[in-house]
Amino acid sequence: MPSLNLMLVPSMKCPASCEYCFSLRGSQPEMTSETMRMALRWFRQYMDEQRADHLTLTVHGGEPLSAGYDFYDALFREIDRSLPRDKMTITIQSNLWLLTDELARLLRENRVSIGSSLDGPPAICDAQRGQGYYERTMEGVEIAERNGLRVGFICTLTPTSASSHSQIVDHFASMNANVSLHPCVRGIQGSANHHMVISPETYGKTLNDILDEYLDTLVSGGPEIDFGIITKNTVVFGEAKWKSQVKSSQGKR
Ligand code: SF4
Repeated sequence: MPSLNLMLVPSMKCPASCEYCFSLRGSQPEMTSETMRMALRWFRQYMDEQRADHLTLTVHGGEPLSAGYDFYDALFREIDRSLPRDKMTITIQSNLWLLTDELARLLRENRVSIGSSLDGPPAICDAQRGQGYYERTMEGVEIAERNGLRVGFICTLTPTSASSHSQIVDHFASMNANVSLHPCVRGIQGSANHHMVISPETYGKTLNDILDEYLDTLVSGGPEIDFGIITKNTVVFGEAKWKSQVKSSQGKR
């Protein structure tokens, strides 16, 4: 039986201004409760039609937390009414700037997995995501972690940041973080981010270089990393997961 991946986008607003963002700018409508309920009912119908035995529901944006606490409170209640919770994984992809302790508790109670976005250490991250981005996201990570949530990261590679891939890998390893590496692709709105789009050749070479460095590190007794290359729609990305012993080995440097 198939497993489905469906996405709910409650808001295309975002308080950040990443240079390569393909999200819509300016004032944007937010999803109403009625639209959310209709979407969940359709998800259920689609699961049944496909005879799916699992649904991964990803809440995305823009910045999905722009929708606010009341939206999420209503969303989880509606999921309990409309969907088979025991056959679901719920994830949210957020920069965490708008996360509060109250929201974090609600997400933890509803067993939501948190994905955030950081492009490496502060200087590299802020050069493409805007000044202060790194610090604000890490404040959100702190709120998430003190409420029992574990945060994984997406790291977007551009031609510029790809040339600093060693620093990026070291940074995430020092955080003992789970991270997925993504290529910066052309915006769906035809936005002027062309100089940040990474070519398939550069992206592939960067993944190879990262893998080579990892193997060198491993041979010299360094920390273990899980690598995987998966395809999703038309975007290819690699995933690196640092295991728990990384933190202790980093502490000894
Ligand atoms: S955090 Fe995401 S939605 Fe917000 S500006 Fe950056 S890329 Fe766009």
